[in-house]
Amino acid sequence: MADGETGELGRIGLQRADLFRQQCYINGKWVGEPTVDVRNPATRGVIGRIPDLGKSETEAAVAAAAAALPKWKAEPAAARAKILRKWNELMLKHQEDLARLMTAEQGKPLAEARGEIAYAGAFFEWFGEEAKRVYGDTIPAPASDRRIMVLKQPVGVVGAITPWNFPTAMITRKVGPGIAAGCTVVLKPSELTPYSALALAVLAEEAGLPPGVLNIITGDAEPIGRVLTEDPRIAKFTFTGSTPVGKKLAAQCMGTVKRVSLELGGNAPFLVFDDADLEAAAAGAIISKFRNTGQTCVCANRIYVQDGVYDAFAKLLAEKASNLVVGDGLAGVTTQGPLINAKALEKVEAHVADALGHGAKALTGAARDSHGGTFYQPTVLRDVAPDALLTREETFGPVAGLVRFKDETQALQFANNSRAGLAAYAFTQSLARSWRVSEGLEYGMVGMNTGLISTEVSPFGGVKESGVGREGSKYGIDEYLDLKAVFVQL
Ligand code: ADP
Repeated sequence: MADGETGELGRIGLQRADLFRQQCYINGKWVGEPTVDVRNPATRGVIGRIPDLGKSETEAAVAAAAAALPKWKAEPAAARAKILRKWNELMLKHQEDLARLMTAEQGKPLAEARGEIAYAGAFFEWFGEEAKRVYGDTIPAPASDRRIMVLKQPVGVVGAITPWNFPTAMITRKVGPGIAAGCTVVLKPSELTPYSALALAVLAEEAGLPPGVLNIITGDAEPIGRVLTEDPRIAKFTFTGSTPVGKKLAAQCMGTVKRVSLELGGNAPFLVFDDADLEAAAAGAIISKFRNTGQTCVCANRIYVQDGVYDAFAKLLAEKASNLVVGDGLAGVTTQGPLINAKALEKVEAHVADALGHGAKALTGAARDSHGGTFYQPTVLRDVAPDALLTREETFGPVAGLVRFKDETQALQFANNSRAGLAAYAFTQSLARSWRVSEGLEYGMVGMNTGLISTEVSPFGGVKESGVGREGSKYGIDEYLDLKAVFVQL
């Protein structure tokens, strides 16, 4: 047994050992032989194993979801809401266990993992309530003997694929609205962070979710993804992950013309104007840039600072970044965990080398951390060239690269010069500028004088190549509802 060899599971110290499952969850049953190792990125130790399921098992999961659909969608919204509310309550009750499990498999500091569990559960609560407000329309008809109504109905079986950076929240903001709307779901979580997903299924069962409404499958991404994107029984496909994979999967969906939602990569600009509160801007940059060790799709990726405050801001940010505490997330004091894997570390190193090679200077960091493995020091680089690799590609790591700008026009030019359009940030104390810049940024979300933009009450999603559709808020449930116009001749 892997744990016997390494003690990883023991170190997590679960109060409820049964939240740790090494099997998939299909049609209300735990299935599959655990064969694939799952490692803790902080220690590289094996936490446990998961099944390597493929096409036939995914088809079985789709069949289970399809069979569960008629009964589930016929339930009153209030009944579905009751289960979702209970599910959230159970998540909060077991917040510490869920957080520790997440930190062990994902690496993020425990405080962030606790926060993610609360944030993730909030989508269940929110969408349970929203389900009660799925109002249709009556439309004044063009003839006096006709009536027209619009019904909103669940799209049907949903296929979902989620990433490793927010192992729980990226699931609940798909599964929450889907299940609330009356859909059933087949989910493939990231193979790097499966245990957070499987623990959710344990609590789903306890909350009273009927078999087949949520099915979770682990294994080879390609064949599982093919079924989820090509099986005609799946009506909607929702994905959060990298842009190349999202594009490929969306294309696969078009053979059967599925509804598609995508939340893909960002390349967030972070603008600091001369008239900004510099202390607030530096604090916002730390949150936005270094949360989850820089591994969020809304992380500030390119920091543009106006001439007049450039030096002062650079100094302040470097001071704050050098105070971050690198280490194993399970050690309570840590504020920076490891990167998820060696590939992520290589990308960070390539971005830093490219910037330094083109004239940038390191104010802090710019090297691997003494913890070894995939730990990298929080890094602030100044005098980064406007066309450096780290301004063109998502770094997905703890590297803040500072580029200088002259005026508002140039700042917006730099910021909008990207095919990504997920999140952007700006700091200014001018009311007029805050409006001009908010309106001028070609992004799905703008943080104006704040580095934090994620909450279940607001729509999350991007424009351009960052995605299609929105998650969270009153809009999020629409992604799981079809409109049906009903004409009545009197
Ligand atoms: P990242 O680079 O952030 O890991 P990915 O897009 O590779 O992002 O992964 C996001 C999710 O997509 C994960 O669940 C992963 O297993 C899945 N995935 C990756 N490649 C494929 C594929 N070819 N088909 C289906 N799913 C995939």
